Amino acid sequence: MSDPNCLFCKIAAREVPAEILRESDRVVAFRDVNPQAPTHILLIPKEHIESLAEVGDAHGSLLADIVQAAAHLARTEGIDEGGWRFVSNVGPDAGQAVFHLHFHLLGGRPMGWPPG
Ligand code: AMP
Repeated sequence: MSDPNCLFCKIAAREVPAEILRESDRVVAFRDVNPQAPTHILLIPKEHIESLAEVGDAHGSLLADIVQAAAHLARTEGIDEGGWRFVSNVGPDAGQAVFHLHFHLLGGRPMGWPPG
């Protein structure tokens, strides 16, 4: 369920410090250490899943929990009216650097499209 060498598993287990904003039995949200927008939060499952490419039928309600947590945080961060972006990088072309499924919640400034 968890990988002893995984940075985000260690954050979920509170073995590595992070500014944790929200936690449930299955999901943790914490601020990105290198924010790309005024609000930049990472949402992860506690379960070690490498990326969206590894998600299966059994993960449906887990993903729903993550999306609901993101929408809640967007409201508490005050970015719900301006809007927000929710993105998960999968693999090298997308720039995935940490191989534990995570979603970036970004907001607080206008963002361009398409992304770089
Ligand atoms: P990705 O490129 O999609 O894999 O994103 C990984 C994200 O993790 C980057 O935005 C990093 O800034 C962030 N990050 C890496 N280490 C930490 C950490 N210890 N605490 C919080 N965020 C981190």
